[in-house]
Amino acid sequence: MLLRVLLVLAALVVLFVWWSRRRPPAAPPSPHAASAPQPDREAMVRCPHCGVHTPVSMGWPGRGGTYCSAEHRAIHEPTEPPAP
Ligand SMILES: [Zn+2]
Repeated sequence: MLLRVLLVLAALVVLFVWWSRRRPPAAPPSPHAASAPQPDREAMVRCPHCGVHTPVSMGWPGRGGTYCSAEHRAIHEPTEPPAP
């Protein structure tokens, strides 16, 4: 009877060791995972005229940067007269 109990315990130990080695070790969390840019977030740009932050897709690109509106781009970057 004691021999059977020891055999069952030995089999359980062997199974536990096999099962614990079978699992891959848990990967440590990457320190860059939290600071990585989110794909659903859009980059913001600061208007050189008023300082308002605007999404890149909604900005008005100009020579001095991306503006929040066409009016601010026109105020900040007056159109130059055409060269002769
Ligand atoms: Zn502006």
